[in-house]
Order: sequence, then C-alpha cells, then structure tokens
Amino acid sequence: MSGGDMAKPLLGHRSTEGDPSVVPAAGRTIGVLGSGDFARSLAIRLVCSGFKVVVGSRNPKRKACLFPSAAEVTFQAEAVKKTDVIFVAVFREHYTTLCDLADVLAGKILVDVSNNTEINHHRESNAEYLASLFPACTVVKGFNVVSAWTLQSGARDGNKQVLICSNSQEAKRTVAEIAQVMGFTPVDMGCMSSACEIENIPLRLLPAWKIPIFLALGLFLCFFTYNLVRQVIHPYIREQKNKFYKIPVEVVNTTLPCVAYVMLSLVYLPGVLAACSQLYYGTKYRRFPDWLDQWLQHRKQIGLLSFFCAALHAVYSLCLPMRRSHRYQLIETAVKQAMEKKMNIWVEEEVWRMEIYISVGIIALGLLSLLAITSLPSIANSLNWREFSFIQSTLGFIALVISTLHTLTYGWSRAFDENQYKFYLPPTYTLTLLVPCTVILAKIAFSLPCIQHRLLRIRRGWEKGRYVKFVLPSATGEYSSGETSSNV
Ligand code: NAP
Repeated sequence: MSGGDMAKPLLGHRSTEGDPSVVPAAGRTIGVLGSGDFARSLAIRLVCSGFKVVVGSRNPKRKACLFPSAAEVTFQAEAVKKTDVIFVAVFREHYTTLCDLADVLAGKILVDVSNNTEINHHRESNAEYLASLFPACTVVKGFNVVSAWTLQSGARDGNKQVLICSNSQEAKRTVAEIAQVMGFTPVDMGCMSSACEIENIPLRLLPAWKIPIFLALGLFLCFFTYNLVRQVIHPYIREQKNKFYKIPVEVVNTTLPCVAYVMLSLVYLPGVLAACSQLYYGTKYRRFPDWLDQWLQHRKQIGLLSFFCAALHAVYSLCLPMRRSHRYQLIETAVKQAMEKKMNIWVEEEVWRMEIYISVGIIALGLLSLLAITSLPSIANSLNWREFSFIQSTLGFIALVISTLHTLTYGWSRAFDENQYKFYLPPTYTLTLLVPCTVILAKIAFSLPCIQHRLLRIRRGWEKGRYVKFVLPSATGEYSSGETSSNV
C-alpha cells in the first residue's frame, strides 16, 4: 500500500445525502456466515445498531431460535445473495466448505473475523488464505480483536478499537463505517499484509507487562535473598537459632516494601535521565537510546506493580499480630519483664517513631492507590492533560518523598548500629534508599531556577548552538529582522 493511502483518513467526510448509489451504513443489510457464539453476538450488535441482518447457516431451522427475531436465519447461499457485505464467522479450517458459494460470493466484501490458536500458526494469515480461496471477493480483516462478549455488551466496556486491514481502500471504508455505527473505533492497519499481525494481537500474553514483571521478580529475588541471609541464615550460623519460620511472612513482608519503593523510584528515574540527556545535548529533538525509550514506555506498568507490592505489604503488616509466633514472643517478653520487675516499658522515642512510620505509610499507600486508579484508561480519559500530569507527576513525586519518610522512620538509627550489620551487610532499608534519593535530589536540582529555565526552553523547542531568526521592532516602530544564536 502506498504511503498516500495510509495517510488518507479511513473515514472520509463524505456526504451521502442525495447520492442514491451510496447506501448509508445503518439500515443496510449485513450477512453473517455461521451461527456460533461470535455470529450470534455480532447479529445482536448489528440489529441493535440499526442494520438488517441475514444469517447463513447449514442448518437454519435448528439455529434460528438462537438469534434475535429481527435477524433472518436462512441457508448460506440464500443469505449471501441478499447482501454485499458478509462476515465470515467460521473457523479457518472450515473455509473450504464455503467454496460451493464462490459464484454467489463473487464481487462481495468478505470480513474475516477469525483468530488462530497459536502466534504465526500458519504461513499465511487466515484473511490471505480466505482471499486465495475467493479471488473474486474483496477480503477485509477485522473484528477479530473483539470478543463475542464485548460485541454483546456493546462498546461500553473493554477495548473499543477494531483493527482493520485490506488491499481495497473502499472495502475498508465500508467495514469501518459499519464498525463506527456499532460504536467501535476503526483503526486502519494498512494493507492485507498486516492481517498476520492483527491475528497475533489477541494471542499475545501481556506484551507490555513482560519487562516490568521480570524487573519486579528480579528485584524481589535479590531483596528476598538479602533479607533471608540477614534474618534467617545469620542467626542460624552465628547463634544456632532456628528462625526459618520467618520465611513465609516476615521475610516476604520485609521484601515487598523494598520492591514497591524501588519500583516507584524506577517510574521517575527515566524522566530524570531523559532530562539529563536533554540538558547535556541541549535539544529535545535527539532520540533517546532504545533502552531509555522502552523504559519510559513501561512506567505505567512499573508503577502499577509498585502499587501491587505496596498493597500486599499493607495486608501482610496488618496480619503480623495474628501469627502464633508473634503471640508467643509477646507473652515471653511480658513474662521476662514481670520477672525482672520492670513496670515502665514505655519508650517515648519508639512510640513516636512507630506512630509517624504507620501514618506516612498509610498516606503513601493512599497516594499510590490514586496513581493506580487514574492510570486506568477509563479514568485517565476523563482527565485533561494538566490534571493527569498533576496526579501522575506531582502527586507521584510526593508519594516517592512520603515513601522515603516511611523508609527512614522504619530504619531510624539502625544504620549507625554496628549490630545491624549481619555478615557486614548493611540493613536492607539503606540499600533501598539509593535510587529514590538519587531521583529526589535530581528533581530538586532540576527545580533550581537556572536549570529549570534551560530545561523549559529546551522542551519548548530551543536548541543549543542553533541560529534562530528574530524580529525586533525598530525605533520608528517598523520591524527589522536579523539572526542570532539562541543560546547567547
Ligand atoms: P463456533 O461457536 O464454533 O461457531 C462456528 C460456526 O461455524 C458454527 O456455528 C457453524 O455454523 C459454522 N460452520 C460453517 N461451516 C462449518 C463446518 N464445516 N464445520 C463446523 N462449523 C461450520 O465459533 P465462534 O466462537 O463463533 O467463532 C467463529 C469465528 O469467529 C472463528 O473464526 C473465531 O476465531 C472468530 N472469533 C471468535 C471470537 C469469540 O469470542 N468467540 C472472537 C473473535 C473471533 P452453522 O452450523 O450454522 O453453519
């Protein structure tokens, strides 16, 4: 397909008024071959959207009761004769059984809605295969990314996009109009060679989540091993104490906040690196390296995983007092204190530390929940750009600062206590502080007027060493032009 074709809007602003040759999308008759789940949902949606529907089945008598009464259910050949646009809601392996209809199908638009069971299952896409079986028809690939359930519930819920491709611009436009009347958003994916890519989309498992999930798992594994060595292995080797019971809850609960906190800082670190790159090169038009580009694109998923770990940490922490080990330790401490006749066990500093630690932790979790909720497409779409950037950028940064306070109040003076260095390993919280503190310091540095001003100018298009044309009013009120270096 030529670049020109791609540049054209899929839905042209055509006026159909007074042109008898143009059939308006709603009201026209649409054919559906097959009477399965997809065909049924499609027929219901088409009828609700104002189309006349004719369903072609091998056994219309048996299947008619499954369709809305407004849809006509008849034999395949009969159905095909009554319409120019036919949705083929049949599996690829049964396409050859439709070959008897080749003559009646000639010159019509066939919409291939099929999916495969494996990525790149066949050498050619299902749509290309259908086109090879029916060379006298125009095949359009589309609607396969929409499930039967979404079709029935309408485009209110779930993904509204319908990806469409075909070698015929006209056929593509017709199917796009139908999709739009049904409440979907048609997306032009170009010519038929894109069909394979479109067919693979419903089969991909969380493509945008792979890197963030591996990152979270990697961090979890590192911190878990570190905490295991400090909390379980060290007392076992040095004091022959069996603390293995700590693994399922305590070690996991000290690992989760580390992952949540570092992941949150990793949401803001690529922005800092991007700003450094822009300041260094003095332009925003230089491409970021691929790894940074990828990182910037995965910030939402990294943030959501950070929220997930923080929420788990909150639940684990609430459940800590439920454990038997906790009750035994509490009784043991009480008995010890009674035997030592210690009456006043109140430590003012510890009380304050804990109160502040819990309070800032709750606030941080609240802010993270807000960030997570507003990153959902349905909520994000209801916000304007300023609201979205205020929540995700400003409130997100505040959440990072509050999480840092949470971590610092947890650690308190432990970093200065030599007993806390197990096998010379510093307390875990000191390690988690590294990246977030770097991000916070960098953000503070960027807010200094001299740096902020330069960064703002770069983001508005200013470039280091580029000469720009300027226009100055002369003393007489006339304008004179000249050239100057913009970075002077
Ligand atoms: P289904 O419930 O098994 O229906 C398939 C229909 O194909 C049958 O009801 C049958 O209708 C018809 N058919 C025609 N020739 C056939 C033959 N030789 N042998 C068996 N059946 C024959 O499948 P479905 O879920 O509706 O899926 C249909 C197509 O839509 C598939 O290509 C699928 O990949 C695609 N799709 C489905 C969904 C979904 O959510 N279900 C989503 C996206 C895409 P008659 O007996 O009336 O002829």
